[in-house]
Amino acid sequence: MNTHLKITIDRLVNGKVEIIDEELSPLLLETKDNLLRFEDPIKVSGKAYLAEEFLVLNLNITTVYKAPCKICSEDLSKVFEKKGLYFTEELSAIPNRVYDVSVQIRDTIFLEIPNFHECEGGCSMREELKKYLKERHDGSPKK
Ligand SMILES: [Zn+2]
Repeated sequence: MNTHLKITIDRLVNGKVEIIDEELSPLLLETKDNLLRFEDPIKVSGKAYLAEEFLVLNLNITTVYKAPCKICSEDLSKVFEKKGLYFTEELSAIPNRVYDVSVQIRDTIFLEIPNFHECEGGCSMREELKKYLKERHDGSPKK
């Protein structure tokens, strides 16, 4: 599985559209952040074409990642799905007329993933936590 998604500009001249349907390796999302874990392929679909002096990519990105619930730290499996993303790059800024869109994909995923996750439908530990906080509050030493 690839960690790169390369678009060859010369294949897009004269109004040609390239259909993209790829699975990228989760290694693309390797991170030092040990809270997020990526083990599933990153599905990328959509199309690439030229518009005047620009390369335009219209992409859908889907993957699954693991992140802990912020309350009970249970490992949660979360779906990441973004549709209809647009990336543009000026042709003059693309070296060798080959554009690697994987960095953009990586940046987008990290930008869009929420900072905190919680068990589906609200963590069941919430009530426990409330009780605990309340007990602590009421449990202050009495005279
Ligand atoms: Zn939870």
